[in-house]
Amino acid sequence: MNLNDEKNFAAIKRIVRNNLSLSDKSVVRFNKIIDSGINSTDEINEFFKGCPDGRRRFKVAETDYKELDIGWEKFKKVFYFVRRDLNITYENFKDNQVEYKKNKFKLVKAITDWFLNAGSYVLIRQGQLIDDYRDTLEDWTALTGNFLVDTSNNLRNDLIKKKEAVIKTQEIIKYYMDQIGASKIAKSSNGLELVITRNFADWFMCSTAETWSSCLNFESEYPYWAGIPGLIVDPNRVLAYITDGQRKTAYGVEVDRFISRTWIVQDREDVFHHLRWYPSKMFKNKILRRYSKLNVPELREHDWISKLPLDLLFHKEEIGSCFIFMDMSCWLVDDEGKVFIVGFDEGGFTFIEEGTYPAIIEDEDHFQYCDGLQYLIDNKEEIIYAKNRSIQCNECGVRLSEEEVFTIGFNDYCEDCYNNA
Ligand SMILES: [Zn+2]
Repeated sequence: MNLNDEKNFAAIKRIVRNNLSLSDKSVVRFNKIIDSGINSTDEINEFFKGCPDGRRRFKVAETDYKELDIGWEKFKKVFYFVRRDLNITYENFKDNQVEYKKNKFKLVKAITDWFLNAGSYVLIRQGQLIDDYRDTLEDWTALTGNFLVDTSNNLRNDLIKKKEAVIKTQEIIKYYMDQIGASKIAKSSNGLELVITRNFADWFMCSTAETWSSCLNFESEYPYWAGIPGLIVDPNRVLAYITDGQRKTAYGVEVDRFISRTWIVQDREDVFHHLRWYPSKMFKNKILRRYSKLNVPELREHDWISKLPLDLLFHKEEIGSCFIFMDMSCWLVDDEGKVFIVGFDEGGFTFIEEGTYPAIIEDEDHFQYCDGLQYLIDNKEEIIYAKNRSIQCNECGVRLSEEEVFTIGFNDYCEDCYNNA
């Protein structure tokens, strides 16, 4: 184990023991596995032969970048018409330059000019387009907040007042270009790698400290992240991610930044099923197969069962198995009481009850807590006993538990704001 792994695993063990409410027995098992390495299927063990840190790296050819650049995907969605009209290629996008009116322009300049000179018809069309974007872009986590809604409503209302519409158009284009720039493959990067990993630090950080988010982000308000330690007992699983070599750190754990990542689970036929790419799919199945040589199916299959059963970890106080929200898969308990993962046409959260005859429990949240891991660490709290602070003070915005709320009419306040009211 190298020094970084040692530091990472020590930090993870501390968090699992102190904050994530595993049963004593499960903490012992977790520590043992993280020290000795995940015990995978024979095929996965073979795959990682000669990779002591549990990572296999594949350099991505530059000719494949176009397929992997999330910034380009976003750009094509947002600037669909202008891209077609100005014939903007991926090369243009990469170099941030396009030929427009017989001159070389920066992209944002050319695009803004195009919108502003295309006349009111385009402005109106743009107003409509922005409504469309709102639907298509809901998965852009960076675009949460009211900016988009406000500006598009105002833009529509202001279309008659040309001057304000011009300013708003410039604002919107700049806003989009900034967002797109943030997820574009960096020009200075030393190239991209596809990494297949069973290093638990990567699994632990699978959605945290990124520009995008999922419910496995440790600061997400949906505490499915409390199930992350339980992944360590899955012998069928690897994580695939794409990185530009930049690093990320949180809670004392340092790993590569993930531009995109997905879980992959091996089935009984030795087919490797990717579950879901976050934040969006950048790697076509055939490219994933070409690089990794894993037996990834061309098209998604639902009818599969994991190669080996899972000997699950459990949370304390008999609240059930410790495992994540499952994308495109779910649990199966066979006649002998063995627990498998099977393919499914949607995602969901269910958990397994501990006991001789394990049962699958539907649709129940393990935890009500919603303030993220950092709060638990700072306050030395365990998720199982932490308060649900889902109510916000109407005045100062501080998060409150039910006992801390003071109510006037339909509004909730903290004690200070209540007293000052
Ligand atoms: Zn307050």
